[in-house]
Amino acid sequence: MRKKKKKTTLMIAFISVAIVSLFSMFFGNTQNPLKSILQKKVSTIKEEKFEKEKQIEEKKQIEEEQEEKSEPIVGAIKDSSTKYGYDSRKISEKLNSYDYSNNGEKIVFLTFNDGPSTTNTPAILDILNKHQVKATFFIQGKSLEIDGAGKILKRTLDEGHSIGYHTYSHDTSSLYPDGNLDIKSFTYDLKSTEKVFKKILGDKFFSNILRCPGGSINWNNMDPLKKYLNENNMISVDWNSLNADDQGKRKNNEELFQYAKQTSAGKEIVVLLMHDGYGKEETVKSLDKIINYYKDNGYKFKILI
Ligand SMILES: [Zn+2]
Repeated sequence: MRKKKKKTTLMIAFISVAIVSLFSMFFGNTQNPLKSILQKKVSTIKEEKFEKEKQIEEKKQIEEEQEEKSEPIVGAIKDSSTKYGYDSRKISEKLNSYDYSNNGEKIVFLTFNDGPSTTNTPAILDILNKHQVKATFFIQGKSLEIDGAGKILKRTLDEGHSIGYHTYSHDTSSLYPDGNLDIKSFTYDLKSTEKVFKKILGDKFFSNILRCPGGSINWNNMDPLKKYLNENNMISVDWNSLNADDQGKRKNNEELFQYAKQTSAGKEIVVLLMHDGYGKEETVKSLDKIINYYKDNGYKFKILI
């Protein structure tokens, strides 16, 4: 009897040891091959799932980027066009008919000709950024030949401003000899400007707007240009206000501001002509006052596209 009890106790002890060791084999910390196979399998499935999701996400991103890249940039980046863009054809028609009304809504287009200059354009961009307003730059092709100018043009576009053409040479004696338009010379010049723009900003960039050197209304025989622009879905935009930084005697920044203010008086649509070329340091100094004046008088800042 005693012997039998001893045998049973031994048996229970043995089974317990076996259960404990089996248990610890599967669930304990000691390494066992079945457990590690199972763990590996689970982690491989997890990795594969993660990898697949990553690939889908990457593919989506590439597709979005490609779509963005293939989308043309017309004058200004899309966000800016949507937020601040204004139909230049409408504005041009208004200016040509001397009608500056806008149903009570005041809008101003700050426009700069002749740039970019490495001396003044960056400072102008800084001031526009500080005030969070956008402007329209009519670029002269030959200004882009100067070292560093291309980078400034890119910055201008990236910061949401609108970019238009102002011919390549700006040479009025070849564009309008004796005051009359030479359409061949003008279109050749314009095409040269377009080429330089594409070289710097890429093939997807083009602009629909042009400012004729000296203003379109100041030259004769302009009909062939109007026809050419119409056929190419382009528009020439002049101005109805100015700071006179390229006219008469050299003015200091206060005089430039006063000139802009006087020529804007009573107008709901203001297209202000300024210059950001070389030697226009006083224009830079007057810009704070000019922007504050339009802000204080309830104008919204728009860009021509
Ligand atoms: Zn000019």
